[in-house]
Amino acid sequence: MNPSRRLLLKHLAFRAAEISPRDGLVSIPPDGERFVAWPEVMERSKRLATAMVAWGVRPGDRIATLAFNDHRHIDAYFAVPCLGATLHPINVRWNLEEMVSVLEHTRDRIVFVDAGLMDRAIALADRCPWIEHLVRMGPRASDGDPPAVRSGVTISDHEELLETSDPIADWPDPEEHDVMAMCSTSGTTGIPKTVAYSHRTTCLHTMAIGLTDCMRLSGQDTLLAVVPMFHALGWCFPYACGMLGSRLVLPHRDLRPERLLDLLVEHEVTTSVAVPTVWDAVLAAVTASPGRWDLGRLERIVSGGAAPTASMIRGFRDQHGVEVIHSWGMTEINPVCTMSPAATTREEAALDPDDRLRHQQVAGRPLPGLTLEIEDEDGRPLPHDGASIGRLLVSGWWVAEEYAFGHPDGERFGADGRLDTGDVASIDDHGRMAIRDRGKDMIKSGGEWISSLALERAIGDFPEVATCAVVARPDERWGERPIAVVSIAPGASLDLATLQRRLAENFEPWQCPDDLILVDSIPLTSTGKIDKKTLRTRFLV
Ligand code: ADP
Repeated sequence: MNPSRRLLLKHLAFRAAEISPRDGLVSIPPDGERFVAWPEVMERSKRLATAMVAWGVRPGDRIATLAFNDHRHIDAYFAVPCLGATLHPINVRWNLEEMVSVLEHTRDRIVFVDAGLMDRAIALADRCPWIEHLVRMGPRASDGDPPAVRSGVTISDHEELLETSDPIADWPDPEEHDVMAMCSTSGTTGIPKTVAYSHRTTCLHTMAIGLTDCMRLSGQDTLLAVVPMFHALGWCFPYACGMLGSRLVLPHRDLRPERLLDLLVEHEVTTSVAVPTVWDAVLAAVTASPGRWDLGRLERIVSGGAAPTASMIRGFRDQHGVEVIHSWGMTEINPVCTMSPAATTREEAALDPDDRLRHQQVAGRPLPGLTLEIEDEDGRPLPHDGASIGRLLVSGWWVAEEYAFGHPDGERFGADGRLDTGDVASIDDHGRMAIRDRGKDMIKSGGEWISSLALERAIGDFPEVATCAVVARPDERWGERPIAVVSIAPGASLDLATLQRRLAENFEPWQCPDDLILVDSIPLTSTGKIDKKTLRTRFLV
């Protein structure tokens, strides 16, 4: 195949430099806000590529990043894969041991590091003898003693590399099945699992996420990227903006809800992407200070990575006219699989807004090129009737075929191309998928299943509740019983009897939690999801 016909990132990610040369990135690292136009993004990537070639980087080499969302991280995001090497974003919230355990497989030669994370990178280089270069991304370091690092490792300044390197003349032509990035799951379920994405899978995925029936991204949008670029390739939003010429606002490290609200208003953001815990906090902050932030420009936000509550979707809709597009995905799916806007079909558009909200609350339809199925415990296909609940399997254009370095969970990749997601779901007769629970979070009481997610959604809608998690407590008689762990909204109170009475409207008594534990805050994972592993150890063992 002629290289021009291949699905290569370089054909897609730099399109904005041609079609929207005056738009670009608004990057807000601690050393000050910076606008980088799309042609400059391309120029910087080409300069960085030359610097990496000078270090002998070859196709297939792995190059890590340890950084937040900013323009310097974007340089590596575009330059590394387009050079034919493999981009490997490291989750900055992992502890040193977790990082080392991932790098023992990926053996990255270079690490691009945010200036604020240099201590961690130096400790990492100490433990990983294959690291040759650390590139410090930040303001130019003031003169003084350079930080001490293991011998054999150089520390370079990112901006200086760009200044002293000429742009690479031509990008190479890898094969479209060549790996362009590797990402590891955040470890909600234990040891990180690393997945490889190819040029082909990332191009197809990036083309799909912006579609009208997905998130309607266009060159007229300004997108605030809250989802970290170090997790699941930032859902490919950097590449989607580079493809379409949308303005991309990169907030760096500080993601407090008040700051996000300031950014949404100041940069006239039209759309944004984050996990539901972030949107819950943003909604609570804007509601607590009426009149302080006007979200008039914000049209729609994507909430994914965990289940949203109906009250969050309704709150954005009714108080701010903002549509919440619910998305479901996983690292193994590059990562987006479904998007659920307020209405997809003519039939849905004609529905009453509250009926639409019911559909928005479910994960929705797969993106074009992906297929969803459900099966019972014996592997028999279940009907798409909205009521049958079973193991969720996904197959299609950008579903991974394996873990890059193996893992006991590798059995979930079927020889038939289907990935057992580990989630439990139903699919209705319009192809709308609803996640009913994570397989391992389902609670088995007296031989019957209780969905922790269904209880969390119901309890999360109580006005007194800020965040809620439902976990299983071992029980001699029933095997497991549900326990609710709740953080309460300021000034509110809640007791077990009230909780059980209210739940009784929609749940059987045996499905309701046996206990209510009030906590100041619910622990979150490094990607902002409820950390059930920690909750189980803290309260139940
Ligand atoms: P992990 O959370 O295992 O570290 P991922 O970030 O890849 O890794 O998360 C994938 C999982 O997150 C899915 O299998 C699912 O359980 C959960 N998830 C993602 N999006 C949603 C959603 N919209 N609703 C419910 N669960 C979700």
